Amino acid sequence: MQDTIAAIATPPGRGGIAVLRVSGPDAIKITSEIFSARGNKALGDMPGYTVAYGDIADSGEILDDCILTLFRAPRSYTGEDVCEISCHGGDYISRRILSALIKAGARPALPGEFTKRAFLSGKMDLTRAESVIELIDAEGEQAMRLAHMAREGRTERIFDGIADTLISVAAAIGAYADYPDEDLGEADPVELAGQISAEIEKLDMLTSGYDAGQIIRRGVRTAIVGRPNVGKSSVMNRLAGTRRSIVSSIPGTTRDVVETDIFIDGVRFILSDTAGLRESADEIEQIGVSLSYEKMAGADIILCVLDSSAPLTEEDAALIKSLDGRKSVVALNKQDRDIVLTPADFPKGTNTVAISAETGAGMDDLTAALSAVCALPGTSDAMLIANSRQLDCALRAKASLEEAITALSLGVTLDAVSVLIDAALSPLLEITGRTVGEAVIAELFKNFCVGK
Ligand code: GDP
Repeated sequence: MQDTIAAIATPPGRGGIAVLRVSGPDAIKITSEIFSARGNKALGDMPGYTVAYGDIADSGEILDDCILTLFRAPRSYTGEDVCEISCHGGDYISRRILSALIKAGARPALPGEFTKRAFLSGKMDLTRAESVIELIDAEGEQAMRLAHMAREGRTERIFDGIADTLISVAAAIGAYADYPDEDLGEADPVELAGQISAEIEKLDMLTSGYDAGQIIRRGVRTAIVGRPNVGKSSVMNRLAGTRRSIVSSIPGTTRDVVETDIFIDGVRFILSDTAGLRESADEIEQIGVSLSYEKMAGADIILCVLDSSAPLTEEDAALIKSLDGRKSVVALNKQDRDIVLTPADFPKGTNTVAISAETGAGMDDLTAALSAVCALPGTSDAMLIANSRQLDCALRAKASLEEAITALSLGVTLDAVSVLIDAALSPLLEITGRTVGEAVIAELFKNFCVGK
């Protein structure tokens, strides 16, 4: 029999309220021991989806007055009886209430244990469980939309659909092998190959958008690079609308990498203002410069800032050359001064935008150019694969199906083909958790927060 778990579900710190959750067969009994509803209302008599106002006490000492929301199995997040206590939002109060619940018989919940119970009681499949974390981690509208798509079961339906088709293909092959006298007719290899290819195509569609989906989920890493004093920090501050980076006319001021987030069209861009790229005798500045090269190497896109009031230096030219093959935007800054650099000074195809970080001119063009260079398609089913676990399963399934196609084309026995279809099925069933080992489940929920 399941035990009853309890946890503080809200983050530590001061707040209007904090919420504690209790879930399990004894949730109502345990909570009743520390909570007395005003008006002598008994928790045991309350129907699900109702609330009570009352006091929480520990060994006769009143700790807080709280609102208690009751959910009865199976109509709760976990599928079990659940009590949610909304108390005053202080760390001390919420910790005292948690220890009172534990004294009354609850066990402290492990990270993700509420969601794990929801999965185990059949309330959600693994992709929906993972979408809960995706939603909590979402930064920006598009990341939130992707999480909602999985939460409403789109990932589950697509993978289950592929698995179900493969199960019927395997069954058709099996029926002939198991009942050779029944005149079922051997499955036609060409028809089988057609059915399998159609499922491979779906897997291709799902895996092809993974990188773009991940960029939307984690944010576009954008390195701002350029010589010292061209206006990198000013551009970053303009984009962020804050004074995040130090602006100074002394070259070499930004030594560390300063990061800030901006949102363009609902997508998060993580801007890194790097140390100006130049040779320097200053050891600390040189460390900053190497960090800049590292940021540049790991960036999804590069925003190269140049001073358009000065001619190109050798360093500028080398930097522009290094942008070859990278997604980049070249900002011709300081347009408010006398201009010596124009787009005509750059190789064809260079993505230049004229701006002035000082006056703000051209900043809208710059954000539009950053968004365009990412070329992120809008959220779609192609981005549903949410993490490396799901991707790995999908790729394994695809590889086995491709082997099955090769086997069919070589005229291998259908028995052998059916082994390959089974091999594809197992990772597909693992994605949604229809069949999944305890180790995978433990690993997956380990990354959740306590109380979720
Ligand atoms: P960084 O070293 O590349 O980060 O450059 P900063 O942002 O610190 O700017 C260096 C100097 O250039 C500062 O004095 C800024 O005020 C100035 N600056 C930055 N952008 C512009 C601009 O668009 N026009 C003018 N006139 N000055 C600018």
